[in-house]
Amino acid sequence: MTSHAHMYDILFEPVRIGPVTAPNRFYQVPHCNGMGYRMPRALAEMRRVKAEGGWGVVCTEEVEIHHSSDLAPFFEGRLWSDDDIPALALMAEAVHRHGALAGIELTHNGHDALNYYSRATSFGPRSMGLMGGTGFEPGQCRRMDREDIRNLRRWHRNAALRAKRAGFDIIYCYAGHGLSLAMHFLLRRFNDRTDEYGGSLTNRVRLFRDLIEDTKDAVGDRCAVAVRMAVDELLGDEGLSSQGEAYEIVAMLAELPDLWDVNISAWSNDSASSRFEKEGFQEPYIAFVKQLTSKPVVGVGRYTSPEAMVSAVRRGILDFIGAARPSIADPFLPRKIQEGRTEDIRECIGCNICVSGDNKCVPIRCTQNPTMGEEWRRGWHPETIAPKCSDAEVLVIGAGPAGLECARALGQRGYQVALVEARREPGGRVAREARLPGLSEWRRVIDWRLTQIARMPNVQLLPGNPMTAADVLESGYEHVIIATGAIWRRDGVGRTVYHPVPGCDLLHVYTPDDIMDGRLPTGRVVIYDDDHYYMGGVLAELLACRGCGVTLCTPAPLVSHWSQFTLEQERIERRLRDLGVAIHTRSALSAVHVGAVTVRDIAASRLTDLACDSVVMVADRAPRDALATDLAPARADGRLRTLRLIGDANAPHIIAQAVFAGHLAAREFDEMPDADVPPFAREFIPLNVQS
Ligand code: ADP
Ligand code: SF4
Repeated sequence: MTSHAHMYDILFEPVRIGPVTAPNRFYQVPHCNGMGYRMPRALAEMRRVKAEGGWGVVCTEEVEIHHSSDLAPFFEGRLWSDDDIPALALMAEAVHRHGALAGIELTHNGHDALNYYSRATSFGPRSMGLMGGTGFEPGQCRRMDREDIRNLRRWHRNAALRAKRAGFDIIYCYAGHGLSLAMHFLLRRFNDRTDEYGGSLTNRVRLFRDLIEDTKDAVGDRCAVAVRMAVDELLGDEGLSSQGEAYEIVAMLAELPDLWDVNISAWSNDSASSRFEKEGFQEPYIAFVKQLTSKPVVGVGRYTSPEAMVSAVRRGILDFIGAARPSIADPFLPRKIQEGRTEDIRECIGCNICVSGDNKCVPIRCTQNPTMGEEWRRGWHPETIAPKCSDAEVLVIGAGPAGLECARALGQRGYQVALVEARREPGGRVAREARLPGLSEWRRVIDWRLTQIARMPNVQLLPGNPMTAADVLESGYEHVIIATGAIWRRDGVGRTVYHPVPGCDLLHVYTPDDIMDGRLPTGRVVIYDDDHYYMGGVLAELLACRGCGVTLCTPAPLVSHWSQFTLEQERIERRLRDLGVAIHTRSALSAVHVGAVTVRDIAASRLTDLACDSVVMVADRAPRDALATDLAPARADGRLRTLRLIGDANAPHIIAQAVFAGHLAAREFDEMPDADVPPFAREFIPLNVQS
């Protein structure tokens, strides 16, 4: 049954890829997830849900073809031997259950493989410092000789054969993100060889061509052979570019693969956050590819609107709408378009919290989709939820991300819910933060939830109602969930400073809340950032753009240090430096005076005075939990049957954690799990102990 408007029909056309046919143009490109070979069941279920949601092609993450491409400590896919086939077969089978094609991205990571687990010697086109992990790891790889190249080709071929046995339909040769040997050989800066694999472009392309030809020869009868290639590194002549060598490479290999999956490199460019790039941002770089090949082309660009997708196809830029993040935020995006439910699409906000999962070697999580990564271990589905198991009526207090998600999910379960919010505008911190520079797409977190709630007759949103404990008790609700958020501390106390900073009560001390409320400092401003994610950097940008002379001090070694894990740190620092923001790292705040602050150089224990007219404290936040404290006696004496504190009011954290906390509270309502046992399934290695 299709009820989507005809204007989107083109997205649901089948497209042939070599010997296989994709049922539609929705293509989940390879994306890592922090689960990898460690959590095969969780991974298979996560991918299955995407196929169920209508993605016509669902791919793995990068899959190591050999133990000399061991990406530990990161958890990617592995196909080192036949023993790895069953785990991957689980995923291919799960994806097939819904009529989608399963793709696998084979890779040897060359000098990006640190081999910390396997202890194999890394190798590459030349001997050079290892590039993987932090990018600052000790050790070098060795230069590959002819035998190494022969071995590599055999391993790649064997991996392709194993992938075919595992049931995959599309098998990749990977030359993207600067992360694979095939790409390292393409690049002049890494390839200084004088044999037939170095020198001229034809020679540098040889290895990539060999791998594609070998793969076609091995599995091309039944499997499509795709390439994933970086067609611009945004490095000008230093790297591949769509006007330079990448153009020539695509022209040389145009008809060889069955499919071109093209993007920009490095990963931080490909997965640029919404703070820096908008929907369709890769089009100028990838548009040339379709002019050079008759094979289908996949590209990404955080497409979430069906109009933009249709346009990219109609303008002849893409054959498939590639997506990693939009498929994470909404695994059912294609189905929603097909069923004419576009307003139900849970649009990705481009925050890259999903990326941080891989970078922190933990299972993927998503700000918008709290079920992401929880499909198998908690049995959570993004679209369905257990129906209510009582006629309880619930009062949720605070309509930030935690309260909104909690009320929405409780409403979906069928409970009667009153969602009460002190401010006239719902949305809590998200409504306020989305007005800061570059963060406007974050509003999608609240917009989607408000749209859903507006359709639920059993959920009542009551803004403009600051609640006291007396109000709560008077309301007669016996089940209360408190999601009242947190406020930024004014005293500088945080990870680095444990006691209020002397002078923090002076009038020229501001907090992010003051600024978001429109109380803005002027003149020379020192921002003290002991939060380390986006807030300090965003406020520096805001105030610098408003003409303040901004100095950012942070105890961390880098400005907005944690944003490394969302791939934003370098761009943030560049933007701040371009705006003339002075940056003092490894600096803790010691005192605030009239006209200056004293900062302590953590590395050298030296004190320095920095002249300023005002100070912005971006340190810890104080949970707004007084209501819970005031209501505790009513819970103890039974006037309240349940009382739960969630989100920032419980423990201030990132927005993704607040959404998750709201969702968890809704799932656990009426059925609290035993706190003594893990609330999720784990994947154990079977120990076949023989006595
Ligand atoms: P979270 O991230 O945990 O959702 P937020 O700070 O974003 O937290 O949202 C909390 C919301 O709770 C804010 O919109 C705030 O106005 C609201 N709030 C705080 N105290 C009360 C109260 N006593 N009554 C009603 N709403 C409240
Ligand atoms: Fe999009 Fe953020 Fe979810 Fe990643 S975590 S898919 S960037 S909303």
